[in-house]
Amino acid sequence: MDIETIAEKVLNGDRRALSRAITLVESSRADHREASAGLIQRLAQSGRQALRIGLSGTPGVGKSTFIESFGMMLTQAELRVAVLAVDPSSARSGGSILGDKTRMDQLARAPGAFIRPSPSQTHLGGIARRSREAVAVCEAAGFDVVLIETVGVGQSETVVAEISDLFILLLAPAGGDELQGVKRGIMEMADMILINKADGELKPAASRTCADYAGALRLLRKRPQDPEGFPKALMVSAIEQAGLETAWTEMKSLEGWRREAGHLQARRAAQARYWFREDVKRGLLAQLETPAARTHMTELGEAVARGEITPALAAEEMLSALRQG
Ligand code: GDP
Repeated sequence: MDIETIAEKVLNGDRRALSRAITLVESSRADHREASAGLIQRLAQSGRQALRIGLSGTPGVGKSTFIESFGMMLTQAELRVAVLAVDPSSARSGGSILGDKTRMDQLARAPGAFIRPSPSQTHLGGIARRSREAVAVCEAAGFDVVLIETVGVGQSETVVAEISDLFILLLAPAGGDELQGVKRGIMEMADMILINKADGELKPAASRTCADYAGALRLLRKRPQDPEGFPKALMVSAIEQAGLETAWTEMKSLEGWRREAGHLQARRAAQARYWFREDVKRGLLAQLETPAARTHMTELGEAVARGEITPALAAEEMLSALRQG
């Protein structure tokens, strides 16, 4: 199928074309890269925008359960929901923390919902580009909400925050007073913190955890993109489907305020610039990975080690060789 045909089918909401298009953008084959760049450029002309919601949390906090409940609530409200995953574990172990999304079987069967399992193993930079393009494909396909899920174990939060309009941190009730070792940098990225499992015996602990985080959020520097009262900490129970409506109302209100104030568009513009720079950097680094460049690097490295050439001169020589292609 040619790009134009795939594009038209995606724009018409054809499911199989959507899956194919995402497979294409996830491929690292050189000819696929070229085709997918063309496809993304073509799809961008639709001008369709979804609300992109990034969701991060450590394994076991209830991400799958939350996405299932939250996604069902949205589809029942006639919204179309796509779920994508950014799985950093595959980069290192070849395994998957997020796993296949068979647990979200109710949502997977819901009309109006689309769940894409995480892409197969690659380095985080590659995952970032693919996820970003997969989001773009889902937007063009007319989804109202794109949920991008990740595990909070490393740099993947930054990747997800850089492709979403709202970044949500999902936490479980803490046993003691500690703030669960959530890194300050991650807290600063969050637009909303949801304390899940606020039900049954865990409810009192959830209340305390929620109050702790509300306090911690108030201590953070005020960001221009936040209206009064944000970022917020709220309690939810994915299992009992409690607090989800409130969380959604708050997300919509934050989105609306940011859209009105121009922050949403500004964030997307800044993200586009960020990814442009990242792609250029990655392209430059890739030039070091050709067989000829590797050999040259090794030879120069050995000459430097033997003291035959200074590191600075060797670097100059290498860079000039790269410039000459
Ligand atoms: P994930 O690893 O973050 O995707 O977490 P899961 O969605 O797989 O949930 C991990 C465990 O927490 C499962 O045993 C869920 O049943 C449980 N869980 C998820 N949400 C809730 C909730 O709202 N309340 C309670 N009590 N348990 C929950």
